[in-house]
Amino acid sequence: MTKFIFVTGGVVSSIGKGIVAAGLGRLLKSRDYSVSILKLDPYINVDPGTLSPFQHGEVFVTQDGAETDLDLGHYERFTDTHMSRLNSVTTGSIYQAVLNRERRGDYQGCTVQVIPHITTEIKERIHRVAKNTNPDVVITEIGGTVGDIESLPFLEAIRQFRKDVGRGNVLYMHVTLVPWIASAGEMKTKPTQHSVKELRSIGIQPDILICRCDRPLQPGIKEKLSEFCDVPVESVIPAPDAKSIYEAPLLLEKEGLANQVLSLLHLEHRSPELSQWQILVDSLYHPTHRVEIAIIGKYVRLSDAYLSVMEALRHAGISMKCDVNIRWVNSEDLEACEDPATYLEGIQGAIVPGGFGTRGIDGKIKAVQYIREQGIPFLGLCLGMQCAVIEWARNQAGLSNAHSAEFNAETEHAVINLLPEQQDVVDLGGTMRLGLYPSRLLPNTLVYELYQQKEVVYERHRHRYEFNNAYRNLFVESGYRISGTSPDGRLVEAIELPSHPFFIATQFHPEFESRPSMPHPLFQGLIQSAIARGGQSSSATSATEPSLETTSESLQSTSPLHSTLEVS
Ligand code: GLN
Repeated sequence: MTKFIFVTGGVVSSIGKGIVAAGLGRLLKSRDYSVSILKLDPYINVDPGTLSPFQHGEVFVTQDGAETDLDLGHYERFTDTHMSRLNSVTTGSIYQAVLNRERRGDYQGCTVQVIPHITTEIKERIHRVAKNTNPDVVITEIGGTVGDIESLPFLEAIRQFRKDVGRGNVLYMHVTLVPWIASAGEMKTKPTQHSVKELRSIGIQPDILICRCDRPLQPGIKEKLSEFCDVPVESVIPAPDAKSIYEAPLLLEKEGLANQVLSLLHLEHRSPELSQWQILVDSLYHPTHRVEIAIIGKYVRLSDAYLSVMEALRHAGISMKCDVNIRWVNSEDLEACEDPATYLEGIQGAIVPGGFGTRGIDGKIKAVQYIREQGIPFLGLCLGMQCAVIEWARNQAGLSNAHSAEFNAETEHAVINLLPEQQDVVDLGGTMRLGLYPSRLLPNTLVYELYQQKEVVYERHRHRYEFNNAYRNLFVESGYRISGTSPDGRLVEAIELPSHPFFIATQFHPEFESRPSMPHPLFQGLIQSAIARGGQSSSATSATEPSLETTSESLQSTSPLHSTLEVS
């Protein structure tokens, strides 16, 4: 029977509930327990697909094509498990389902109310995740902070859950802040006391407290929290800040979190297999190379907007012991400047990631031109590919007024055009070409080689526009290589520039499949080329600086990604 863990947050938002949930998932998986992690988001949007990345960061796309909260990315990366559309629930989606049922008359004359109808739907969604893959443990993270009006129905639902499925099968974990007050030279427990009091007023007594802090807990703090919050002292788990989120599972393991969880849920204690994870963190903390990669986008003032891209770079870096320093470049700044070198000089690689809308687009196109002309390793992702295509059309294929129909519907040369199946789409939410689709790769291309000569690979998509086939011949004749298409040949999925050291762009989003333990080959290729272009070697290890042959070996040995994907 599946066990259920609920993770709530107290005191402040952005406290790291997602990392705690994902980290605990890793600890359970490392003991051979299967895990699925679910996020309940209190906002009214049906999903985050139509939200600006400035609101909640990037939209993470699952294999089955759901547009979800970025925490699902953490869940996948930490647990090496695919999440599905079932793993992302918002208040909006709950109300939508209940209202649809009400319109159909399913409630047979009843007054539809938060309790029981909304809470029943919430509980049903949690059970659905359990039924879908039958994991040993379902972890549910409740978005927001205890005390928010919005999350009350979620908290009421999870309160009822313990009564429904039985005490030993449900556990409540509260992630809280224990702040250091510099003027007093002390850590304070009062915010946690208040937040637990709030939780109790709803009827939930936490079983475990995860104490986020910027330094080790002072002596006596654990005992005080235990006393005031009625949580056994061994269930008060310190979670100090770490240099990297990937260290979190190791820190939580050291503090005994997983053993507490297993005891409380009456699950067999098993010893964890964390040696690979430890190696990964060691590689992250002891790089032998350093490169600087520019990410050129319009949401750069909130790095969460490009979270999966950042993490994919990190994973590729780990596999090559390379510290990847990201230079955030605002595409609008590029538009305004005379010479792109002002912002791009000195980088060893660049990414133009996905995006929507006209703002900043000219800056991205300008950046691609500079990158192409300077031979800087480049990876274009979705909109990044579309910008690369526009740039080539204008500057190399003689179509000086080429554009994407997304940005200029009247353009004479719409080298990027609406997908035919998108012509009549009116609604914005959930209507793009979304999720996992196959791409056929052309042999003897760089992309094909990086994917270890796989003929078909599966990657996640999120787009409405595509390469316009009317221009294919012109592009190929002028020096472009179409290295991947949909299996029927209709849609261009990947392009590259043979005359350039490393210039690859894809209509899909490889970043969503990258994992710390399974870096993505395209990101590895980018980092490898960036190192070749002249990334620094760290002084500590310069005597043993690996040659590129060595790094290409590590590339080979750490790219089993697409063999695991082909099953879908
Ligand atoms: N706006 C572009 C499209 O809809 C690119 C989307 C993206 O980068 N995810 O096709």
